[in-house]
Amino acid sequence: PGQGNVLLQVEKARKQFGGVIAVNNVSFDVQAREIVALIGPNGAGKSTTFNLITGVLSATSGSISVLGRKVDKAPPQEIVKLGISRTFQHVKLVPDMTVFENVAIGAHLRGHSGPVSSMLRLDRADEAKLLAEAARQIERVGLADQMHQLAGSLSLGQQRIVEIARALCVDPMLLLLDEPAAGLRHMEKQRLAALLRELRDGGMSVLLVEHDMGFVMNLADRIVVLDFGTKIAEGTPATIKTNPEVIKAYLGV
Ligand code: ADP
Ligand code: MG
Repeated sequence: PGQGNVLLQVEKARKQFGGVIAVNNVSFDVQAREIVALIGPNGAGKSTTFNLITGVLSATSGSISVLGRKVDKAPPQEIVKLGISRTFQHVKLVPDMTVFENVAIGAHLRGHSGPVSSMLRLDRADEAKLLAEAARQIERVGLADQMHQLAGSLSLGQQRIVEIARALCVDPMLLLLDEPAAGLRHMEKQRLAALLRELRDGGMSVLLVEHDMGFVMNLADRIVVLDFGTKIAEGTPATIKTNPEVIKAYLGV
């Protein structure tokens, strides 16, 4: 793979919590315009890997680079500014605020790093830009009709998509999604997958942690498999599906 295409490079990342090695010399990359899935049984180190990438945790050793620049010590706001935006494992919307208001919080993070209350100190031109950006992203994900509904009144599938709209407001090149399909109905998963493909085809990359194998196998361009903190396989869905090591890790035989 050409160096110029590498957005994110994780190199021999290791994270130790006391006696537990949560992530053990894991290396992989994410290139431009691809969907990569990070899978593995519970406790494999997926969330820890996400937290290393997003600056929530710093690695015990190894390195994380964004566009060739080491970001090991960068705080989360810095990582966001470099073009990496995320959603969380559990929905983090404010249920009694509208879709628009929830997304506007994300729009505010673009180019700013202060608390949400500093939104009140924006001048009118900035505020107008921010609100326009929020509306644009809601339209982009297909939720224009729900823009002024309370977030809590939407289906879980729609709420996940609102979270994605919020993450898109910072104009990311790479979107990190933590279990985006969890708890969704079949139709909602299909809608989510279609949106993620559309974003990829528009030039964005996606790195997702996901337990739903059907969803991952249909969507991912490439899959990285972790088990007990170690990368045990990497490849296309077709090769991962039939990899004996992967089958063993999942079935525990
Ligand atoms: P996954 O997301 O794949 O289920 P995690 O990254 O959450 O796995 O956890 C990997 C391992 O690291 C597990 O054994 C977990 O108990 C341990 N671990 C994760 N976070 C911490 C922490 N903050 N302190 C101690 N151990 C942790
Ligand atoms: Mg996890």
